[in-house]
Amino acid sequence: MPYICIHCGKEIKSLEKFIRCPYCGYRVLAKKRSSIAKEISTD
Ligand SMILES: [Zn+2]
Repeated sequence: MPYICIHCGKEIKSLEKFIRCPYCGYRVLAKKRSSIAKEISTD
């Protein structure tokens, strides 16, 4: 699940290797919010 740096707004995909934003170094990240819910299970 992609994350967004709340400081610079960059999208961070590979969060496994680093906990902080690779662009600005900010450590507070938020889960990417999508207006279109992709987590809907269609079974
Ligand atoms: Zn950042």
